[in-house]
Amino acid sequence: MDCLFCKIIDGKIPSKKIYEDDQVFAFHDINPQAPVHFLVIPKKHIATLDDVTEEDRAVVGHMLYTAQKLAKELGCEAGYRTVFNCNEQGGQTVYHIHLHVLGKRQMTWPPG
Ligand code: AMP
Ligand code: ZN
Repeated sequence: MDCLFCKIIDGKIPSKKIYEDDQVFAFHDINPQAPVHFLVIPKKHIATLDDVTEEDRAVVGHMLYTAQKLAKELGCEAGYRTVFNCNEQGGQTVYHIHLHVLGKRQMTWPPG
């Protein structure tokens, strides 16, 4: 499958890996928008949040749990932001779902 993040999971494209288990893979974003900016992705290819099915609910929960654990390990005790961009108007550019985790700077609301 011609998917950038599937290739990262398979090691065909290099990444700065933070964590991996049987369900998820986490790595630093190549274009960080905060001092800490990493992505948590499922090993299963799911194109967008709209494509999540009932059987995927556990892995999406595990993505959030992983985000929380890694954010703390990377020093985001003061807080952090998690974001799923979905489809074009949501600002999604890579069509393999990914949870952005940003921290170590003050976040503002609303986002741009
Ligand atoms: P989104 O706009 O939500 O689809 O986010 C895609 C994210 O993937 C962006 O923040 C990119 O900087 C990041 N990204 C794209 N290619 C790579 C790569 N090879 N390694 C790490 N992060 C990447
Ligand atoms: Zn994929």
